[in-house]
This record gives sequence, structure tokens and C-alpha cells, in this order.
Amino acid sequence: MPNKRSRKNRKQKFYCPYCQTRLWRMGSPKHYIYYQQISEIQKHLHISRKKASFLKSQHNTYLDRSSWIEDFCCPQHGKIWLKISYQTNSPMQVSLASAEDWKNTTGTINPNHPNPSVSEFSYSMSRRPKIRSDHH
Ligand SMILES: [Zn+2]
Repeated sequence: MPNKRSRKNRKQKFYCPYCQTRLWRMGSPKHYIYYQQISEIQKHLHISRKKASFLKSQHNTYLDRSSWIEDFCCPQHGKIWLKISYQTNSPMQVSLASAEDWKNTTGTINPNHPNPSVSEFSYSMSRRPKIRSDHH
């Protein structure tokens, strides 16, 4: 029965930013990052301002499916939220999720409902407990 693990060999490993211990994936949903400002879209996607404003006009908010916040667990530090970003031509970037990052996630995004109403957004945002980026 406990043999499930051997088959699923995930290549990517994550380490605690405080003690460098291997982190466990908690299997939490990925909280994808979205951008509401043209400047944010431009900066994160490395595209021209013109293209960014085009995207913005198309989507209003741009959901970045290559960046998300995910829940991990360190044996020493407990729950850790990491922000993970894939860029096509560079290694994966992992950093502690900052409060700023959290502001840009829906937390409840459902791929089948890409356009939740604004009121739903602010409702879930206002109910979200304050999350600090440091766990000490
Ligand atoms: Zn740790």
C-alpha cells in the first residue's frame, strides 16, 4: 500500500529559505498570480507596453498561469508559502510569497470559471486572513 510514491518521481525539489531543508508539497491548490496594471503585465511578461496594454484591454485582469503561490511544509518552520514562477527560457524561480504577491492572487481561482465577478474577488480578499511573508 505505501508504494504510491515510487512511481511519481517529481523532478523539482523545493527547499526551505530559512534552513534549506527539503520541503514537502502539501498538495494545496496553486494560487495563480494576476496583474491588474499595465505596468505589472509589462514587467512580468517582459513585453512591450503596447502589447501589455493590448492584453489588459482583452482580459481586464491578466492571469499569469506560469506564476503561483503554493503551500509547503518545513519540518522546522511549519507552513511556508512559496511563490513559484516558470519562465520559458530560464530556470524556475522560487521565493517567499510576499504580501504584495498575495494581493495579486485570487486564491480561489477556478480554471473553469476564468472570469469571476469583481464582487466575488473583493469578498474573498477581504475574508482572507492576513498572511505575513516571515514565519518567525
Ligand atoms: Zn525551515
